[in-house]
Amino acid sequence: MEAQRPADVIRGMAGAAEFPDSVMEEGDYRGEGGLIYCGKCGMRKQKIILVPEILAGGPGKTVVVPVACRCQEEVWKKRKERQEFEEKMLQIRRMKDASLMDSKYRDATFEAYQITGTNQKVKKVAENYAEKFAEMYEQNQGLLFYGPVGAGKSYTAACIANRLLERQTPVIMTSFVKIMRNIAGRDEGEYLEMLNSAKLLILDDLGAERTTEYAIEKVYNIVDSRSRASKPMILTTNLELSEMMDCQDIRYKRIYDRILETCYPVYVEGKSFRWIAAEERFDRMQKILEG
Ligand SMILES: [Zn+2]
Repeated sequence: MEAQRPADVIRGMAGAAEFPDSVMEEGDYRGEGGLIYCGKCGMRKQKIILVPEILAGGPGKTVVVPVACRCQEEVWKKRKERQEFEEKMLQIRRMKDASLMDSKYRDATFEAYQITGTNQKVKKVAENYAEKFAEMYEQNQGLLFYGPVGAGKSYTAACIANRLLERQTPVIMTSFVKIMRNIAGRDEGEYLEMLNSAKLLILDDLGAERTTEYAIEKVYNIVDSRSRASKPMILTTNLELSEMMDCQDIRYKRIYDRILETCYPVYVEGKSFRWIAAEERFDRMQKILEG
């Protein structure tokens, strides 16, 4: 007698094994045991399982169930990766929304950083800070970018913020001026807690806020609570470092002392971005008008 093919054996055995065609696609074929095989990777797309009597609720039987071939697994893997990527992007967008960052700084990146000769070192410091943030965070190490108006201090700080946000590290970037506006009529403790929930707090433009007793008090509270939380902050300011170090006014001195305790001062000098843009504009106009 001719040897029975496995499918016949199973058919004979269970009597009612089904061989559904639902997984059959173009190029697929029926191979060993009558099961469907993938035409692309050659792996089977079905398998036979035995359902014992106790589960079958009657006599034991065999059923054919679909299994993933390599191509299918590849499809699932890609789909999963895509979902994870989209979730990550969504998460980053949410974090950017929550960062309170000015829309003009949203696209600030080290990749787009304009090197003007004098700011190369600043960029390096900032990029190193972002790269070593885990360590900086551990040590509660901050930065203080100081220098003339428009030198790119805020932009540099925003580059750090965006690099960290891309890596899903919570950052808040705001200014004392904005905080003063937002804190009025709110629970100060809660507001400070919100600020301190970020792993990095960037405070833009120290010294631009009003010089009322109220404002000075708030600035101190913000800096002090950050310091107490042992979490790093980055500040930008147009103030001179010497002004901060030799400050005689006790009301300001205690603010500056807190900052200088943990923030490494970085001088941002040179022609400002604004000045460069103005110069380029001048050159263009000169060509048009005098050329
Ligand atoms: Zn396949």
